[in-house]
Amino acid sequence: MAGMEEIFGINVFNDSVMRQRLPKETYRALHKTIDEGRRLDLEVASVVANAMKDWALERGATHYTHWFQPLNSVTAEKHDAFISPLPGGAVIQEFSGKELVRGEADASSLPNGGLRSTFEARGYTAWDPTSYAFIKDRVLCIPTAYCSYGGEALDKKTPLLRSMEALSRQAVRILHLFGRMDATRVTPTVGPEQEYFLVDKDLFDRRSDLIFAGRTLFGSKPPKGQELGDHFFGTIQTRVQAFMADLNEELWKLGVLAKTEHNETAPAQHEMAPIYSIASVACDHNQITMEMMKKVALRHNLVCLLAEKPFEGVNGSGKHNNWSMFTNTGYNLLEPGDSPHESAQFLLFLTSVIKAVDEYQDLLRASVASAGNDHRLGGCEAPPAIISIFLGDELTEILEALEAGAIYSGREKTDMTVGVHALPKFPRDTTDRNRTSPFAFTGNKFEFRSLGSSASVSDANVVLNTAVAESLRQFADELEKSDDFRKKLHDLIVRNIHEHKRIIFNGNNYSPDWITEAEKRGLLSLPTTVDALPVYTAEKNIRLFETHKVLSGSELRSRRDIGLDSYAKMINIEAETMLMMSRRQILPSVLRYAGELSASCTNLKAAGASLHCGSDLLDELCSETDNLKNRIDSLAKVIARKPDTDPETAAFYARGEVLPAMKVLRESADHLERITDRAFWPFPTYDELLFSVQ
Ligand code: ADP
Ligand code: MG
Repeated sequence: MAGMEEIFGINVFNDSVMRQRLPKETYRALHKTIDEGRRLDLEVASVVANAMKDWALERGATHYTHWFQPLNSVTAEKHDAFISPLPGGAVIQEFSGKELVRGEADASSLPNGGLRSTFEARGYTAWDPTSYAFIKDRVLCIPTAYCSYGGEALDKKTPLLRSMEALSRQAVRILHLFGRMDATRVTPTVGPEQEYFLVDKDLFDRRSDLIFAGRTLFGSKPPKGQELGDHFFGTIQTRVQAFMADLNEELWKLGVLAKTEHNETAPAQHEMAPIYSIASVACDHNQITMEMMKKVALRHNLVCLLAEKPFEGVNGSGKHNNWSMFTNTGYNLLEPGDSPHESAQFLLFLTSVIKAVDEYQDLLRASVASAGNDHRLGGCEAPPAIISIFLGDELTEILEALEAGAIYSGREKTDMTVGVHALPKFPRDTTDRNRTSPFAFTGNKFEFRSLGSSASVSDANVVLNTAVAESLRQFADELEKSDDFRKKLHDLIVRNIHEHKRIIFNGNNYSPDWITEAEKRGLLSLPTTVDALPVYTAEKNIRLFETHKVLSGSELRSRRDIGLDSYAKMINIEAETMLMMSRRQILPSVLRYAGELSASCTNLKAAGASLHCGSDLLDELCSETDNLKNRIDSLAKVIARKPDTDPETAAFYARGEVLPAMKVLRESADHLERITDRAFWPFPTYDELLFSVQ
């Protein structure tokens, strides 16, 4: 294997390649566009396109594509060859500035939530120059945003870029109030930790539920699960190690800063964390990471499962979204800082996040909602469906002292007046972290832990950036008017801590007492996707997104509807898969076994043996098989009656009628699995799936 330095970024048209290959003026003009978030001039684009094409051809590429992230959370690409005909039957390979900057996507079968019907069927894609072009499978991929001709966002990238702008605009106002006139841009940074499962491909191929739903719909808990805690950080299995080495190499070539890898809590579960980057790039890189995990796994005869809950009874997979804000001068705004001035600024930005999470807890919950993630949230393994913030005891005590106007008497006694005193040193030891909290301060960043493992990180960061932008907007409006900045700042921080401290909770988020306590505090509990997604169009939330020009009312409605529609469709696919497996595999297998069992009993009796357990077992088998058949019929009826009206009705029906029918069908099947001869069971069971990869 080549050294990491040699391969890192070799398939990326990155800054150093641009510097090498572009004329000086073009390089400078492109940089200006990137740094200032401006539109790219067509002349500049033509020069860049040509250099990009030459570079791509040298690296064996034959096609290019506008690579984008439609609303169904996958990445989309349509490949075009660089080919252009010449008179006389010859061809040349061309790529124009126009083709680089803007593409037309007749993507009428991609979800649009009703947005496109009022406009043209086509949408267009536009290059996002903040994210480098790269080569994947001999195709030059140009990261793009995807909009309708009316300018409405039809993808996950557009609102993310808009939310980054909004956050920057407001954060810079605040920094100017602190006299930091050199700050001209603030950029959110994201480091998403990605969890996944690996299973053997031969076993995977024999399970329709894994093939169609990405998760098991049947399966009895194996004798050993994760109770010994021996998998987390355990020695990595040889096959998995080979997969990880291969994955790292592929990711490094694509400029993804893959850094940490380890085994996770559940058997067969693993994690990869990259070094953080700006939010839009982190989002692209996470999509690439998921795609590569799937591809590389296949080379090792493994399948990578990204579903949130592939197995019942062991932990599911999520994504921890580490988030902070950096100035263009390289300063982390969530770093506590040493001087009174820096402390005051830190406290203000910290307060802006506390206020944002409290006021938009509904949106944060909605941003992670999906059929798959519902099986995780609130399951006493992942963060709960109730959003709260963990700050740690010391930082909480500091805020309490501030609010009470008292002296903070931690390890150092400090009279706390914002802007006058520095923060006392509080430990930022990673070991005292509360892993049950959905939203935790971890020293110089927040970690939002509720994201599902298969989701794009875009939705959560759009909400986070915009909600914090709104806090900062209100703070800036108030502070800009004041003649005594320091006093006003102190009052504003104290008032906001007082108003929003209910969102801070440092205890055990899995404890049932917390649910009662959270309710007392007036925090929202939105247990399922169906409860959560409609909040996207609550009046206060439309106002938030419209104020910051991130999403319009109709864009929000389309996102809510697509989410509800996918939820209902996913559950329907799962229900149909269960019917297929139970009718054509489980039922016939169990009947065959019962037949053989009955024959054995008859033979034994004929031979004069006195045996009772055979008929007991036969009774148990037969009565559960009857249950199974009844439950199959009930589920079939429920599916047949499913409403075909609007997405919300369909989603409500899926949750209220289909899921409960699936649950009882599974109970019968899992009971049968436990009492049926293994040789008769028609597909691999949990013990094989979870422990076969060595
Ligand atoms: P742990 O693995 O213990 O949760 P790490 O410090 O290793 O903590 O961070 C995990 C993730 O957080 C990594 O992806 C890392 O790059 C990211 N991260 C660290 N600092 C920041 C930051 N300031 N902004 C965004 N992400 C960050
Ligand atoms: Mg972490």
